[in-house]
Amino acid sequence: MDLIIGSHVSFKKDTQLLGSVEETLGYNANTFMFYTGAPQNTARVPIDNDLTLKGLKLMEENNIDIKNVVVHAPYIINLANSNNFDFNVRFLKEEIDRVESLGVDKLVLHPGSHVGFGVDVGIQNIIDSLNTALSPDTKVTICLETMAGKGSELGKTFEEIKTIIDGVKYKDKIGVCMDTCHLNDAGYDLSDFDLILDEFDELVGLDYLKVIHINDSKNIMGAHKDRHDNVGIGNIGFDNLIKIIYHDKLKGIPKILETPYVEQNPPYKEEIEMIRNKTFNEKLIENILK
Ligand code: FE
Ligand code: FE
Ligand code: ZN
Repeated sequence: MDLIIGSHVSFKKDTQLLGSVEETLGYNANTFMFYTGAPQNTARVPIDNDLTLKGLKLMEENNIDIKNVVVHAPYIINLANSNNFDFNVRFLKEEIDRVESLGVDKLVLHPGSHVGFGVDVGIQNIIDSLNTALSPDTKVTICLETMAGKGSELGKTFEEIKTIIDGVKYKDKIGVCMDTCHLNDAGYDLSDFDLILDEFDELVGLDYLKVIHINDSKNIMGAHKDRHDNVGIGNIGFDNLIKIIYHDKLKGIPKILETPYVEQNPPYKEEIEMIRNKTFNEKLIENILK
């Protein structure tokens, strides 16, 4: 099976899915991830069916399988904060509807930050919110992202992810998105990814793993910071990321880059090329700036 690799791409009001696919093709990627609107606010344009159909057609012509495409939920949704319970549930449901109308079935969601309520209360809020937002008819898989543990973020350990899943009624609607930068910053040693996968398999179950975010980290293991770096430039390093990307047990799982732009230039075409060649290019930053 071919490597499924892509990046975060834009989703613009005038071009929508079609524009996202065109951007993806420019990076020589075969999948992509996008936000349906600005991640930090609630302004959303209606999904344009014509642009969706054109985007789906262009995907088909280029062998991009919609099953591998990912939407990232806006991070204004904080399911751990019970003060905003109604807003959170309503906005998550609306987001699920938008994602389903695009035909996408993977929705990555940050579990949430407990903002002072404490870990246990925060996790219970996440569970209650998911149990209210999800129904037997939900088609998308909500992929809970592993977090760096910045501030009061939850989902920073596999134990916390497991506790959330244990409490959710419709477990078949739930998956997990591992983020390599977040794992590193949470304290997982990515130089031994076999060990991490074994631990995940034992606690959560590998079947839950649906998406992997591939990012290097500007910070050392356990820093709880969450600052992404370009592939091979940060503290995780190129070889460790390549081992994860090509890991036997992760075949068929979409790998999505969320690495930072370099002076307003997207790095994805160059990073994907290095990943496909399995060779770090010392001139990466220079090439991105070209
Ligand atoms: Fe994320
Ligand atoms: Fe991520
Ligand atoms: Zn991050």
